[in-house]
Amino acid sequence: EGLRSLLLSRIRDVPDHPRPGVMFKDITPLLADPAAFNALIDALAGLCVRHGADKVVGLEARGFILAAPAAARAGLGFVPVRKAGKLPGQTLGQAYELEYGTAEIEVHQDAFSAGDRVLVIDDVLATGGTAQASLELIRRTGAEVAGVAVLLELGFLGGRARLAPSLAGAPLEAL
Ligand code: IMP
Repeated sequence: EGLRSLLLSRIRDVPDHPRPGVMFKDITPLLADPAAFNALIDALAGLCVRHGADKVVGLEARGFILAAPAAARAGLGFVPVRKAGKLPGQTLGQAYELEYGTAEIEVHQDAFSAGDRVLVIDDVLATGGTAQASLELIRRTGAEVAGVAVLLELGFLGGRARLAPSLAGAPLEAL
């Protein structure tokens, strides 16, 4: 439909970034287009409401650009999930596997109230490793997972299947 084709038309393929053989999906043309960006934020805010979220998580760094305005538009608070070492307060961390090596993300221990329903927003779902780690982290704080929403799902990488056990029935929405 209209939103889907508008969004897709504003995502640019950049070959061989960040490594040879990788086709990078660049969302900066979408962010620079006020009509497309606004439509995206409206759609994400709608998903926050539809899935009964109490808080909205953005995954560093491009997830912040989408999650913060979507949270504000939905009347909800925004919580950053950051790469290890960036958050100033007491944190919980979650390590996960990358193609080469491991990475770790963190969230503030007091970011959620017990039983908060949390919607996670990121720009791109690739292998699903980052989103999966964020769901484990959110559950460990005592909060609940309301779902995951992404702008773009790279279906051929199998992220949806990898994420399914951590979603435990919560929705994965790809716009
Ligand atoms: P995953 O953990 O393999 O699912 O990778 C997802 C993370 O890497 C997200 O935080 C994305 O921002 C980033 N990412 C992976 N591929 C792309 C891409 O083609 N364009 C933009 N971001 C990407």
